[in-house]
Amino acid sequence: MLYFSTNHRSPRVSFRDAVLWGQAGDLGLYFPDVIPQLSSEFLTGFQERSKAEIAFEVIRPYVGSTIPDEVLRKICAETVDFSFPRVNLTEKISALELFHGPTLAFKDVGARFMSRCLQYFSRDTQQKIFVLVATSGDTGGAVAAGFRNVEGIEVVILYPKGKVSQVQELQLTTLGANITAVEVSGTFDDCQALVKKALSDDVLREIIHFTSANSINVARWLPQQFYYFFALKDWEGEPPVISVPSGNFGNLAAGVLASLSGLPIKKFIAACNANDVVPKFLMSGEYIPQPSVATLSNAMDVGDPSNFVRILEMLGKNAVDLMPKVEAASISDQTTADTMREVYKKFAYILDPHGAVGYRALADYLSAHPNERGIFLETAHPAKFDSVETALAAKIEIPKVLKDLYTGTKESVEIGVDYDSLKEVLLKKI
Ligand SMILES: *Cc1c(COP(=O)(O)O)cnc(C)c1O
Repeated sequence: MLYFSTNHRSPRVSFRDAVLWGQAGDLGLYFPDVIPQLSSEFLTGFQERSKAEIAFEVIRPYVGSTIPDEVLRKICAETVDFSFPRVNLTEKISALELFHGPTLAFKDVGARFMSRCLQYFSRDTQQKIFVLVATSGDTGGAVAAGFRNVEGIEVVILYPKGKVSQVQELQLTTLGANITAVEVSGTFDDCQALVKKALSDDVLREIIHFTSANSINVARWLPQQFYYFFALKDWEGEPPVISVPSGNFGNLAAGVLASLSGLPIKKFIAACNANDVVPKFLMSGEYIPQPSVATLSNAMDVGDPSNFVRILEMLGKNAVDLMPKVEAASISDQTTADTMREVYKKFAYILDPHGAVGYRALADYLSAHPNERGIFLETAHPAKFDSVETALAAKIEIPKVLKDLYTGTKESVEIGVDYDSLKEVLLKKI
């Protein structure tokens, strides 16, 4: 399997090189040459298989011969080594809980898979590998935990100052070791732009081997397909509609990829907060990037989602091409908070703000389509967000892993949004 760049000006590369480079030299995103088709034998029988086996079968064609099967099996088993329960709220709506990993975020899966692939590939590179990542909240913690103490790898995480929750900040600033947290006085979009600039800086690339651990990296992006297979375990009846709380659109793009491989999913709902470039695109046909605005679902505060281009690559370039497969909704903070309250009251279920956006978009869709059923992805544990207790006026039990964070000491490097400051930080790490 080779990967091409969505900008079509860089050469095709193997999975190994796509992981090691993160982004193509022409600033495009790597995309698989062919979308593997799952056999009907697999599609009728996967529900009986273990999570590790499903993960292995799904990812194997994408990895090809760059990682031996026995190593890949082990990577897959470690990647999905926690539970992914589907919880029914009503007869028609269930939550797929993706927050039972080590940092209580769905990004644990991609981060764990990528760190293990990179560790395997770094065995035969001489240079230290730098992993650069911009985070709007949960990526940083998941990447920090996934890569901590991985030999030969330095991790530099950029996050927008004052725009991540306290727990999220502690998760990415207290690990130390090979993890450096950079606090940028700007937005997530600024952080992402700085990372992209460093990745394409030819002078730096001469001296440092860089890659990105954002979902633009195929090793973070592709394993997110697993969730959609887990979602369909024990599912009976017509294929579900799946609502995906979306920011950078990596998760939703992975779902579309899984469905194009043969997984039966009726439709996807791109559940967005006030950052509504994609909902507007689907309505007007025009894609107009916006500066991101801060919301309760901060991990989705993205004004120009980088993975959206992968969805266009799969479904077609125009809004009308997407419509049969993707709907979109934009949910305000007020409605998000109301939804958290409503669901708590009706079902005694605590949503986090991202899951609340997913739930609301799905519930609204289903009231217009009463014969369908759906699943929304619950992407983070509610205890990570102070806004949940405020909205519910209730105390939430804090899981032990989060309590332990408060004993750590925050360490970060503060910079402005200028590229030179970032460059200085990086050069000091060599
Ligand atoms: C990252 C994140 C999202 C958005 O996922 P994308 O793949 O960027 O669309 C949603 N919810 C939570 C909690 C996240 O951390």
